[in-house]
Amino acid sequence: MLERPEVLPSNFAEKSRCWEGNTMVGDFERLAQEFVDPEAILHYRVCGGQDARGRPRLHCTVKADVEMECQRCLKPVNVTVDSDRVLYLAASEAEADRLETVLADEDIEVLVTGQTLDLAGVVEDEVLLSLPIVPMHEDCTMMSVADV
Ligand SMILES: [Zn+2]
Repeated sequence: MLERPEVLPSNFAEKSRCWEGNTMVGDFERLAQEFVDPEAILHYRVCGGQDARGRPRLHCTVKADVEMECQRCLKPVNVTVDSDRVLYLAASEAEADRLETVLADEDIEVLVTGQTLDLAGVVEDEVLLSLPIVPMHEDCTMMSVADV
């Protein structure tokens, strides 16, 4: 099973720590049921850092080629997961609101962490957010012809 590191958010950001690797998507608890091929390899990378003013943030990258069930013909459809985002860290909802106000011009994303940060949870969220809401072939009939 995959280790699920819990880190102190401020420490992880200040020291520019990174958590990264390649593992099967199915090793992530919340991703195990999403894909036709849970053995597809997911590359994930979460790195701590700070902006010019010392505000803690994460740089998250997730990449994978997976198969989901087409919602029209129920056959597998290829989906590429490729997300690269920066998330500012806030210890509370109030702090998140403050950050969003201060950085309103920059169209930023804020992650409310609480005391500790579940890095695997961050990766799961990034993958889930990058998936199509309704996975579907562009043309299912083309797909069936190709299959024959
Ligand atoms: Zn289809």
